[in-house]
Amino acid sequence: TKYVYRFGGDANDGGNGNKNLLGGKGANLDGMASIGLPVPPGFTITTEMCTRYYADGEVFPDSLRAEVANGIAHIEGVTGKQFGNKADPLLVSVRSGARVSMPGMMDTVLNLGLNDETVIGLATASGDERFAWDSYRRFIQMYSDVVLELDHGAFEEALEIAKEDNDYHLDTQMSADDWKALVAEYKKLVEKLWGKPFPQDVHDQLWGAISAVFGSWQADRAKVYRRLNDIPGDWGTAVNVQAMVFGNMGDTSATGVAFTRDPATGENAYYGEYLINAQGEDVVAGIRTPQYLTKAARERAGAKPLSMEEAMPETYAELARVFNILETHYRDMQDIEFTVQQGKLWMLQTRSGKRTAKAALKIAVDMATEGLITEQEAVARVDPSALDQLLHPTLDPKAPRDVLTKGLPASPGAASGAIVFDADTAERRAELGEAVILVRIETSPEDIHGMHAAKGILTARGGMTSHAAVVARGMGRPCVSGAGSLAIDAKAKTMRIAGRELKEGDILTIDGATGEVMAGEVPTVQPELAGDFGTLMVWADKVRRLKVRANAETPLDCRTARDFGAEGVGLCRTEHMFFDAGRITAVRQMILAENEAGRREALAKLLPEQRSDFTEIFEVMAGLPVTIRLLDPPLHEFLPHEEAEFEEVAKATGIGVVALKQRASELHEFNPMLGHRGCRLGVTYPEIYEMQARAIFEAALDVAAKSGAAPIPEVMIPLVATRRELELMKEVVDRMAKEVFAERGQSIDYLVGTMIELPRAALKAGEIAEVGEFFSFGTNDLTQTTIGISRDDAGRFLTQYVDKGIFARDPFVSLDVEGVGQLIEIAAERGRATRPDIKLGICGEHGGDPASIAFCEQTGLDYVSASPYRVPIARLAAAQAAL
Ligand code: ADP
Ligand code: MG
Ligand code: MG
Repeated sequence: TKYVYRFGGDANDGGNGNKNLLGGKGANLDGMASIGLPVPPGFTITTEMCTRYYADGEVFPDSLRAEVANGIAHIEGVTGKQFGNKADPLLVSVRSGARVSMPGMMDTVLNLGLNDETVIGLATASGDERFAWDSYRRFIQMYSDVVLELDHGAFEEALEIAKEDNDYHLDTQMSADDWKALVAEYKKLVEKLWGKPFPQDVHDQLWGAISAVFGSWQADRAKVYRRLNDIPGDWGTAVNVQAMVFGNMGDTSATGVAFTRDPATGENAYYGEYLINAQGEDVVAGIRTPQYLTKAARERAGAKPLSMEEAMPETYAELARVFNILETHYRDMQDIEFTVQQGKLWMLQTRSGKRTAKAALKIAVDMATEGLITEQEAVARVDPSALDQLLHPTLDPKAPRDVLTKGLPASPGAASGAIVFDADTAERRAELGEAVILVRIETSPEDIHGMHAAKGILTARGGMTSHAAVVARGMGRPCVSGAGSLAIDAKAKTMRIAGRELKEGDILTIDGATGEVMAGEVPTVQPELAGDFGTLMVWADKVRRLKVRANAETPLDCRTARDFGAEGVGLCRTEHMFFDAGRITAVRQMILAENEAGRREALAKLLPEQRSDFTEIFEVMAGLPVTIRLLDPPLHEFLPHEEAEFEEVAKATGIGVVALKQRASELHEFNPMLGHRGCRLGVTYPEIYEMQARAIFEAALDVAAKSGAAPIPEVMIPLVATRRELELMKEVVDRMAKEVFAERGQSIDYLVGTMIELPRAALKAGEIAEVGEFFSFGTNDLTQTTIGISRDDAGRFLTQYVDKGIFARDPFVSLDVEGVGQLIEIAAERGRATRPDIKLGICGEHGGDPASIAFCEQTGLDYVSASPYRVPIARLAAAQAAL
C-alpha cells in the first residue's frame, strides 16, 4: 500500500484530492496544487497509515521510512533546498488533518528542521538574522508544547521575562540577540522539563512530529470532540509535511485567514484578517490584534491600521483572484489560510467554511441564484438541525438593555444565563438545568465540552476567526469575542467590565449579532421567517414526498405550526387539556368517582370544555387532518396531593375527604407506565372515550358549518396491543359519531386508527389494520417498550451507553433504526398487506430528528409529526431524504 502522496511542483499524486484518504487539509492542498494555485510543495501521509499505526500497536512499517524520505526529496527538488543543510536549510511544517476539521487534534509545528547549526545557515541565506532566530525560538516553543508536551506556560513566562528585562511591550521589539538569548533559555528549559536536550537531528524532529500527530488522534480532547460530533473513531488523521513559507520576513510579508463570503451573515463579500510580519498561528492565537482584509470592513469598523487591500494592493488582487477560482472550483464558500512571503502569495489551506445557520441559508440561496449550484444542491447544503438557530427568539429590540461593553459579533443569536468562568463548571451547572454563559479570556480545544454545555460564550481576547468564534459558529452557540474591556479574574471567579464587578452566577446576556454584552436578562422576540428561509423552504417542498405535521394541542402551538408550514396535526394529546386550572377538579371528580354514574356526572362538566378546545384547534387547522389521541396517561397523574385539593374535590362531589384519600390510594400503581393507561382506560371506562369522541365530532361539525373547510379528525386510540382492544374502542367512537351526526343531521369524514407503540402491536399489525384505518408510530413509547428502558430513568446511564458504543446515539433522540426501526418496518409492511391505503405516520420526538426522518422516508411512511418549532427542520430533512 502506498502511504505517501506528494503535491506541489509537478507532483499531484492524489489527483483532485480524496478527503477520506488524505484528510480534508491534504486533499485540498492537493486540489489547489492541481489547479495551478501557488501551494508550497509537500506530501501527505494517509489516514490509512493512522489506522494501521494503531492496529499494529503504535509502530510504523519500515516501508514508511523510504516513502517519507522520497517525500522529503520531492520537497527538496521543488524548493532547491535541503533538509538539515547547514548553509541553506529546508524547513517544513507538520500538520494534522482528519477528514473533517477537528479541533482537539495536534497543533501544527512550524519551522521544523532548525537546530543550532541550520539556524545560522538560515540567517545567512535569508540575510536576516533576527528572522532566523525568531523562527528558531518559535520552533522550540511549538515543538516542546505539542510534540514533547512540556508545560507551555514556562516558555511563555520566559518570553515575558525577556521582554520585561528589556522594557519591551511587543514581540516585534525583540532584536536578533534577544531572540538568541531566549533560544538559550528555551533549551535550558527543555533539558530541565524533559530531561534531555532539545533534539538537534532534523530527522528525529520530523519523526517525533509525525508520531505526535498520529498519537493525538487518541487524545482525550479529540475523543470528546468526536463524540460530540458523531465522528467515527476509525477514520484516523492524515499528516501533512510541507515546505515552510515565511510571513515573518519583514513588512512585505504577512499571514492571514479569510472567507470568500461573510461566515456570520452570508453576505457575498470577502471577509478576513491578516497580520504583517507574522507567522501562521499569530492571527488565530490573538497575540496581536489582526487587521482587516478589506477596506470596506476596516471603514465600517472605524479602525485605523491599513487593510490588506490598502497596504498590499497587488497581492490582495491576486488573493481575490484566487478566492474566485476556489469558489468556482469547490462550488462553496471557502475558509482560507494564506501567507505572503516578500510580496509573493502562498496558499496554505482551503476548506468549506463553517458558517452560521443564517449564513448557510443565504449562501445556499445566493449560490443557486448565481447559478453556481442547483436549487436541489442548495436544499442539500443546509443542515436542518442548524435551522434551530434561526427559528428561536432574538433579543427584543424594544426592551431596555443595560449594556456593559461591546465585543465582536462572533456568532449570532442571543443568550442569557449565569456567568461561569471554566468549562467544567459550565458543564456541571448546565447538567442541573441552569442556563450558563461561559466567560473566558480566550478558549482552547480543552473548553469544548463547556462551550457545548453553555447557552453562549464570551471571550475577552481573539478575533472573528479565533477558536471561540469558529467553534461557537459551528455549534450554533451565540458568541461575543474580543470584548477587550473585560478583565477576568478566573481564580476569584469575578470579572470587571465598565467599572462594575460581576461574579460567578450573576446573570448576563450576550447578543452575538451585535457583540453587545448586557447585565441581567433581556426579553426576546420571535424571528422573522421570510426571505432566504422562505425561498429555501419552497425549494425543499418541491422535492419533499413526506408530509409534515405538528404535535400540538393548544391553538397557539397550532398557529405556530401552521405558520411554520405544518400540514396538519399529527398528535394532539388530550390529557394536556385536562390539567387546565378550571377543569382539574372535574377531572379529579371523574377519577375518584365510585361508579359510572359519578363519572358521567363529572364528564358532563368536561364535555363543553373539550368541545371548545377542539373547536379552536379545528379552526386553526381548517381543511387539514388533525390526529387526536384519546386519553392516555395513568389516571393517578391527575390525583390531588394537597389537603386543599382534596377538600375542593370533596366540595364538588359531596364525598368526604377521608373516603377520597382512600380511593386515591387504591389507584396507586407500581409501574404506572405499564399500568392502567391508554386504551385500557377506554376499555374499563368507555364513558371517558365517549365524551371525548362526542366533543370531537360536535366541534368538527361546528367548524365545518362555520368555516366551510371541514377538518378531518383522525381519532387515535393509544397503547393498543391487540385487535380486539381497537375493535372495542372503534365501536365506541363510531357509535358517538353516528349519534352526533344523527342529532345534527350532518356528517363529516373521519378516521379511527391507533398508535403503534407496543412491540405486540407492531407484530400483529396485519390484524390490527383490519380495524384501524391509520397507524401512527408512537416511537417514544415504542422505543421504551422495545428496548425495555424507561425514558424517564435512562438519563443516569444512557450517556455511558453512548460513550461505550452500545448505542451510536441516544435512542430517544435518534431512532434506533436497527431495532425499533425493524418493528416499524414490520408493522408498515403487515399493515399495508391488509389495508393497502393505510395511512402511516410517526409522532414521537423522532419525527423532528433528521436521521430518523431519513428512515421514515425509506420506509415509505406518509408523514412525520414534530413539535411546532421543528416543523421547518422536518420539512428540510424530509426534502434531503427524498433527494
Ligand atoms: P489548523 O488545522 O489548526 O489550522 P494548520 O496546519 O492549518 O493548523 O496550521 C496552522 C497555521 O500554520 C496556519 O495559520 C497555517 O497558515 C500555518 N502554516 C502551516 N503550514 C505552513 C507552512 N508550510 N508555511 C507557513 N505557514 C504554515
Ligand atoms: Mg489551518
Ligand atoms: Mg405513548
